[in-house]
Amino acid sequence: MKPVRRCALVLSLLLPAFAHAQAPVTATEAELLFRDVRVLDTARGTLGAPTDVLVRGNRIAAIGEGARANAAARVIEGRGRTLMPGLIDVHWHSTFTALSQADLLAPDASPDTLAATVAAESRRTLLRGFTSVRDAGGPIFELKAAIDAGQLQGPRIWPSGAFVSQTAGHGDLRQPHERSRRFFGKPSLAEEMGATFIADGRDEVLTAVRENLRMGASQIKLMAGGGTSSAYDPVDVTQYTLGEMRAAVEAAEDWGTYVTVHAYTTRAVRRAIEAGVKCIEHGQLLDEDTLRLMAGKGVWLSTQTLRPSTEAMDPLRREKRKPVIEGQARTIAAAKRAGVRIAWGTDFLFEPGLNVEQNAFILGLREWFTPAEILKMVTHDNAALLALSGLRSPYQGRLGVVEEGALADLLLVDGDPLADLDVLADPERNFLVIVKDGRVVKGPE
Ligand SMILES: [Zn+2]
Repeated sequence: MKPVRRCALVLSLLLPAFAHAQAPVTATEAELLFRDVRVLDTARGTLGAPTDVLVRGNRIAAIGEGARANAAARVIEGRGRTLMPGLIDVHWHSTFTALSQADLLAPDASPDTLAATVAAESRRTLLRGFTSVRDAGGPIFELKAAIDAGQLQGPRIWPSGAFVSQTAGHGDLRQPHERSRRFFGKPSLAEEMGATFIADGRDEVLTAVRENLRMGASQIKLMAGGGTSSAYDPVDVTQYTLGEMRAAVEAAEDWGTYVTVHAYTTRAVRRAIEAGVKCIEHGQLLDEDTLRLMAGKGVWLSTQTLRPSTEAMDPLRREKRKPVIEGQARTIAAAKRAGVRIAWGTDFLFEPGLNVEQNAFILGLREWFTPAEILKMVTHDNAALLALSGLRSPYQGRLGVVEEGALADLLLVDGDPLADLDVLADPERNFLVIVKDGRVVKGPE
C-alpha cells in the first residue's frame, strides 16, 4: 500500500505547482487576416468558395467582403486551403490523461515534475487541434486557471471538478485499507487531492455539488452506475437513490447548470432522467425504449469510440469491458435512429500513450456516421453540449462554427476533411495553423 499512498500524497501537492509553471504564450493579435481560405461549414456539411476571414481580438470579425484588415494586421495566406472550427472533446480528463500509474509511482516523482507532465500534455492537446474540452472529472481548477491566465498553453476547459460518487460507487477511489470517513473520521486521499467526493445522502450530495460550484465547475459529474475501471462496483449496479440524485440536480439547476452522469444501464439511466439529469456519459448498455425516452426529453448521449480490450489490460477490467464493447455498436446505431442528441469524447484515463491518438479516435465514428455528420459532431454539436452550462460556461460566445461574431478558435487544414476525413488524424502535418481565442498557437513564422 505504501507506494500508492505516497503517489496520492504527491498528487495532492501537484496542483499548486502550476502556479510556478511558465510557458511562452503568443499575444493576441490585434487583427489577423486569413486570405484565400475555403470555410468549412460543419453545421451544413459544405465547403465554401475561396474567401477572406478577419479575426479581431478573440472574435471572428468579418468573412468575405467586409474582411478588410488594417495595415498592422498579421496576414496568413491560405492558398485555397480549408478553414474550420477547432475540435472539441467532451469527455476528457486533463490531469489523469497525462499521467500513468508508473509516472505516479516513479521514485523521482515530485509535484513539479508531475505538474510539468500535465502542462506539457495540455499543450499537446491544443496542438492536436482540440481548442476546447469538457473535463469529465478530476483535479482541474488550478490547471484551467493557469491556461486562462496565459501562463500555460492548453484548450479551453469546461471543468466538472471532483467526481461525485456514493460509497462503493464508480468514484470511490479508496484503497482497500482506507475506511469510511463517516465512521472513522479520515477523508480518503483521492478526496484530499480533489479527484472525487464520496458523498452519501441528500445533505452530503448537496455539499459536494456546491463545493464544485464554488470552485467554478461549469457542470457536475456524478456517478450513477457501475464502471469498468473501478474496483468495487460491478457494471450492472445502480448508484444513488432518486432522492440523492435529485438533490444534485436541484443544486446544479439553482446554479444555472446541469448534471451529467456516468451510466451504462437502462435502470441507472432511467433513474437519472427521472431525477432531471441532462446528459448521459457512455450508455453502451441502453435499450431502444430508453434511447427513445432520451430523445423525447432532449437528454444528451455523450458517447465514445471505445476500442476492443487488449491483452495488456488487467483481466478484471477486460471482463467488465466485454458487454460494454459489445453493446457499443448496437446502441450508437439505435441512438442515431431514435434521434438522440449525440456528442463525442475520448475518456482516456491513466494511459498517456493513447493521447497521441485522440484525433484517430474520431475516425472510429465512421462505423455509424458520414464524414459530414462526424465533423458536425466534433465541432458544432459538441459546442451545443458545452453551451448547456449557460451562464456557468467559463467562456461566453459561440464555438464550433466559423461565423461572424463567433469566438476565434480556428484550424487551417491542408486538405478537405469532408472528402477525406483521415486528414484529421495527422494534426502535426495537416493542421498548418491553429488559433485559439484569437491567438496563433501554431502557424507560419
Ligand atoms: Zn471518464
